[in-house]
Amino acid sequence: MMSKKLPVIDAAWTLFLDRDGVINYEKVEDYIHHWDEFRFYPKAPESIATLSNLFGKTIVVTNQKGIGKGVTVESDVRDIHTKMKAAIMQHGGKIDAVYYCPATDANDPCRKPNIGMAVQAKDEFGSVDFNRSIMVGNNPSDMQFGRRAGMITILLTTTRLADTVDEQLVDFVFSDLAAVAAAFTR
Ligand SMILES: [Mg+2]
Repeated sequence: MMSKKLPVIDAAWTLFLDRDGVINYEKVEDYIHHWDEFRFYPKAPESIATLSNLFGKTIVVTNQKGIGKGVTVESDVRDIHTKMKAAIMQHGGKIDAVYYCPATDANDPCRKPNIGMAVQAKDEFGSVDFNRSIMVGNNPSDMQFGRRAGMITILLTTTRLADTVDEQLVDFVFSDLAAVAAAFTR
């Protein structure tokens, strides 16, 4: 699967990023409830800055079931996203939108691997073209989300080995966002 070539990116392309396990460390068996629990991966803000200057749009799509379960407060999740975007902006990067899905029901259209959040992005930004989009995530549901929408998929091995994911779902594998940014600027 790594024999494929990365596409040449220009402003017609959209980068979709999962959040936990991609931008920031996951908590073991728990949700990130507050900003003080949010830890960027090393070089993640810098990497997003590099990538967001190549892609036309950079959009975060994150399942946040903790809200639906009533264990995470929605306003705290919004606060995390405000501060996350500001920190990335300080590094010269830009997140155009953050979509989160509070649903606990796997059949909810917004819950990845369903593509509701991708459709929402396309509705909000007419320039989003799934055939010129890349989805970066750390779980099979992210890869499925990308596949179903017709995007290129990138699996990060931050939290699992590549061979734990159906290889049909994965176009490229990288260790982390910094490696993705390096590959696109080589
Ligand atoms: Mg994740």
